[in-house]
Amino acid sequence: MKPMRVLVTGGAGFLGSHLCDSLLSDGHSVIAVDNLLTGRMSNVDHLRNEPRFELRQHDICEPFDFGKVDYVFHFASPASPVDYSIHGIATLRVGSLGTFNALELAKKYGAGYLISSTSECYGDPLEHPQKETYWGHVNPIGPRSVYDEAKRFSEAATAAYRRYHKVETRIARIFNTYGPRMQINDGRVIPNFMKQAFRGEDLTVYGDGSQTRSFCYVSDEIDGLVRLAWSSDPGPVNIGNPNEFTILECARAVLEVTGSKSKIRYEPLPQDDPKQRRPDITKAKQLLGWEPKIGLKDGLKMSLEYFRQAVAELKS
Ligand code: NAD
Ligand code: UDP
Repeated sequence: MKPMRVLVTGGAGFLGSHLCDSLLSDGHSVIAVDNLLTGRMSNVDHLRNEPRFELRQHDICEPFDFGKVDYVFHFASPASPVDYSIHGIATLRVGSLGTFNALELAKKYGAGYLISSTSECYGDPLEHPQKETYWGHVNPIGPRSVYDEAKRFSEAATAAYRRYHKVETRIARIFNTYGPRMQINDGRVIPNFMKQAFRGEDLTVYGDGSQTRSFCYVSDEIDGLVRLAWSSDPGPVNIGNPNEFTILECARAVLEVTGSKSKIRYEPLPQDDPKQRRPDITKAKQLLGWEPKIGLKDGLKMSLEYFRQAVAELKS
């Protein structure tokens, strides 16, 4: 493939920074645009001397244009329930205004476009596993709505720019992804359990731990996203790992992999917490020849050193 000039919103975040690495290693030039709301410079520090990489500190709710680009990956948005609850209005703004600005840029330059949407579009799903054809079960005014509805709106805006302006858009619905560079304090279940396990604190299981999630290791996720980006299908396409675990099983896996003697403590389940979540990835398999390869315990082992270091840095 011919080298492209690619823009990644949210490029200093967890997934965005891994995406930048992948695009650079494929020979492209990358402009990461990030206001560092939930991202960190340290995620892209290793790219400081890379001539094909630049980071622009900018809030994408304000229009932006850093010159012609061939592709826009729109990843900017708080993503963890704790982050989007703290930054509720900013989450609605980046999903709406930010999405419009990203789409306008793609339209202006005739660039390709992919948005990182989410399994949260399915809400607390009544269909299981979730296929792309399922329209979801979302509380439009509940605590998660700042994120869920922002993402549903951004899917609608993306579909509209394809319909009305012929922008070559793609929608990826990402399911719970984990790995190195996740913020240790973003409240998501794997960083929380890792931190607690390394500190010998109780692992906080919300509710009775019977709710399920399906965890995808970051390298598998990025591989699926990049394949979708270069395909001609508009999506939505589920990109996630279909191996489903209860949160209690996830806690036990973290204890096993860390060798921690921490106990499990039960805490109240947050409002509207989805009871089950598992992607049907038939479409991704058929369309992209993609399926994840890394199981939960292996992925946790591959993340261990990162989390150990992140916890050590918290102490210092
Ligand atoms: P993250 O918080 O690490 O990354 C998001 C990045 O967006 C951060 O660097 C943040 O500073 C930046 N950002 C937020 N608002 C911005 C704004 N107004 N202008 C510029 N930059 C802004 O989260 P992540 O897990 O890497 O998620 C990345 C994307 O993937 C998000 O859109 C998220 O909704 C989506 N997603 C992630 C998961 C997952 O499991 N990690 C699951 C579903 C969807
Ligand atoms: N969870 C938990 N303990 C924690 C953090 C999260 O039991 O310390 C649960 C949470 O209630 C949810 C699941 O783990 O059922 C996944 O939560 P996360 O915040 O990682 O992401 P979500 O999939 O809910 O967006």
